[in-house]
Amino acid sequence: MIPYGRQDIQQADIDEVIAVLQSDFLTQGPVVPQFEQALAAYVDASFGVAMNSATSALHAACLALELGSGDWLWTTATTFVASANCGLYCGAQVDFVDIDPTTFNLSIDALTAKLATAERDGCLPKILVVVHLCGQPCDMQAIDSLAKRYKFRVIEDASHAVGAKYNLADDAYVGNCAYSDITIFSFHPVKIITTGEGGMAMTNQPELHERLQLFRSHGITRDAALFTDKSPAHGSWYYEQQELGFNYRMTELQAALGLSQLNRLSGYIEQRQAIATHYAEQFSGYPLQLQQGYKGVYSSYHLYVVCLQNKSAAQHKAIFEELREQGIGVNLHYTPVYLQPYYRKLGFREGYCPNAEAYAHSAISLPMFPTLTGAEQDTVITTLLQRL
Ligand SMILES: *Cc1c(COP(=O)(O)O)cnc(C)c1O
Repeated sequence: MIPYGRQDIQQADIDEVIAVLQSDFLTQGPVVPQFEQALAAYVDASFGVAMNSATSALHAACLALELGSGDWLWTTATTFVASANCGLYCGAQVDFVDIDPTTFNLSIDALTAKLATAERDGCLPKILVVVHLCGQPCDMQAIDSLAKRYKFRVIEDASHAVGAKYNLADDAYVGNCAYSDITIFSFHPVKIITTGEGGMAMTNQPELHERLQLFRSHGITRDAALFTDKSPAHGSWYYEQQELGFNYRMTELQAALGLSQLNRLSGYIEQRQAIATHYAEQFSGYPLQLQQGYKGVYSSYHLYVVCLQNKSAAQHKAIFEELREQGIGVNLHYTPVYLQPYYRKLGFREGYCPNAEAYAHSAISLPMFPTLTGAEQDTVITTLLQRL
């Protein structure tokens, strides 16, 4: 089976992880801060806070932004469940914005309309989680102007988009937080670089940096400058738990793997771009809809999604199953989150976001990873085109 994605582990990665195993620290040592600083420098953010997953980082980000009961978190309908679940973890209510049928990302028009209605009804969101689906950045300037007008905070779920650029000409990397409060990356093996499990929250705001660190580690600080009790009587053992935090820490082994993988990030994106270009060339003229981006954008191509045109949901399913039978590990990213049984229990129903539902009846994620060979890719292309 040619999978839709897979990790690339090289000898250098293995050597770095072994070096950590032979060192003094398996956790809470020097390598996690090195990884944080290296990735922050790479994407031009002030701070990075590494965690044991992007899901943990999304939760900590919502807590850092003081999301709680009575608040609303909005996200796009077409995403992984974690982009929405982080709101529920905090006791907030979650709502969904429909997608744009050409970019597959959250629709700016749908968001604009929904905000106007919410303002009238007094239920504006506190946080919007935007998702750069497949690695294709959203229009953050448009989102930022809405955030300023309606006073909500912005988290970028960039689980797909490490190494992507909002603007190729300016070298503006996703994660620079120019138009958001916090950006989240994932290092799950199927994503662009991996730490086994892992994630990182990027921010430019010192206060959010402190709060992210607090929630990552039990709500505890050992920084005397941050103590609420300034009594000089405290010994050097003294620390304070100031929030109800978690153990969301990344290990040193994971950080060593991440640092080593980071050395190859730009090469990975170039390989993914080349694979995407070949797909697009071969698919031109066929009834396949490809993901569009705005002018100047540079996708990281975590995923390569095609939407079948003029096919019924039943035909989509049949083609999907045939591709799998032929050894092509296609996938679907994603069914609208609100159609999951857990969200249906909250009252969501079919018809809520029509574009996201139509997308889920036509989308297919094709194999996309740096070590995909030319022969494998051509097999994927001919197998798909024969079925259109
Ligand atoms: C993978 C993914 C996550 C969760 O990442 P983990 O590191 O596995 O927790 C969150 N959001 C999106 C969009 C993802 O694709």
